[in-house]
Amino acid sequence: MKYIEEFQDPALARGLLDQIHATVTRPWALMEVCGGQTHSIIRHGIDQLLPDQIELIHGPGCPVCVTPLEVIDKALEIASRPGVIFCSFGDMLRVPGTGRDLFQVRSEGGDVRVVYSPLDALRIAQENPQSEVVFFGIGFETTAPPNAMTVHQAKRLGIRNFSLLVSHVRVPPAIEAIMGSPDCRVDAFLAAGHVCSVMGTEEYPELTDRFRVPIVVTGFEPLDILEGVRRAVTQLERGEHTVDNAYARAVRPEGNPAAKAMLADIFEVTDRSWRGIGVIPRSGWRLAERYREFDAEHRFSVEGITTLEPAECRSGEVLQGLLKPHECEAFGTTCTPRNPLGATMVSSEGACAAYYLYRRLGGTPAPVEASPVG
Ligand code: SF4
Repeated sequence: MKYIEEFQDPALARGLLDQIHATVTRPWALMEVCGGQTHSIIRHGIDQLLPDQIELIHGPGCPVCVTPLEVIDKALEIASRPGVIFCSFGDMLRVPGTGRDLFQVRSEGGDVRVVYSPLDALRIAQENPQSEVVFFGIGFETTAPPNAMTVHQAKRLGIRNFSLLVSHVRVPPAIEAIMGSPDCRVDAFLAAGHVCSVMGTEEYPELTDRFRVPIVVTGFEPLDILEGVRRAVTQLERGEHTVDNAYARAVRPEGNPAAKAMLADIFEVTDRSWRGIGVIPRSGWRLAERYREFDAEHRFSVEGITTLEPAECRSGEVLQGLLKPHECEAFGTTCTPRNPLGATMVSSEGACAAYYLYRRLGGTPAPVEASPVG
C-alpha cells in the first residue's frame, strides 16, 4: 500500500536505529503528542528498540481520552431526550459517563446512531425533520474542520433541526501547559503530523523559543517515528531547539488554508477542560456567536452539567506523561477494555488500551481478554 508499506521497511528502520544509537550520549525524554503515534510505537515495539537513554512519554493527543466526563454526561442527557437522534463516531459509544454510556442509552430506547462522517448526521436531519439530530463533535484540529463544514452546510441549507455538541481541543496550548507544569520531564516533542497537515507549523516557533524545546512534526508509521526521534535527539545533542518538519509528504508550513478559514469562520477559541488535567486557557473551540443556534449545549440547556472525575482513574497522569498505564493500580484488574474505568482504556488511541492490547503488562497479572480496540 503506497505511503504505508515503504514506511515500515525493516532495513531502513535498522539504519535509522543505528543512527540514533550513534547519536545519543545521555538521557532524553521525548513526548509523542498523538495517541495514534503511541499505538504505532507500542505495536511495533519501537520504544524497546531505542537506546536505553531515550524514554518515550505518551502525550495527551487522544481525542476520546481528553474529552471531559461532564461532556460525556451532557451527551448522555441529550441522547436520552425523546425526539432526539444522537449521532457519533463509534468510539464514543463505550466511553463511560457517570454510571452509563451511550450504548446503554441506546439499549434503554434512545436513538443513538454511529455515523462515519458529520455530513451523515446532516443527511439524517434532512430525512427526519420531526426529530432533533445532534452530532457529537469532539477531537483536535483534525476533526474540527469537517465538523465546521457541517455547521456551515446546515446554515446554508436552512436545516434547523441539526446541532453540534462541541468539545474540540487544540494542541499548542496543551504543549504550553505540559511545559509549564513543575513536574514536566519532556525534553522534546514529536508533534502530531495530521494536526499539522491542517494547521501547519506556524504556531510552534513561539513554543520552541520560549521553552527551548525541539518540536519535530512526525508521522505515524515506524519509519516516520524513528525519523522524528532521530531528528529530535540530534537537536537535543547539539543544544538546538527549532521546529523541524519530518512529515513533509503531508505537512506544509502554512497547513491547509481552506480548512483554517472554515475553522476561523465557524468556531472561536475558548478555554477548555481536558479530562484528568483540568482547564487549559484558550485550548479549544466553541461555536462562534453567529452559529450559536447550532450549539447543542445551548439548544438542550445542558451547560450547567458539571461532573467530578472518578478518583480511582489516573488517566490525567497518564495523559500528562507522569504515569505509565501499567503503573495504575486498576490496570488490567478492575480496568480492562471490556470494563473500562477511564477513556484511555476505551479509546482506540488511548495509551492504557495500547498497553493492554499489546501486552505491556509491566508484571501486572492481567487476565487475557479480547479487546474491542485496534
Ligand atoms: S488503567 Fe484504567 S483506571 Fe488506570 S488510568 Fe488507565 S483508564 Fe484510568
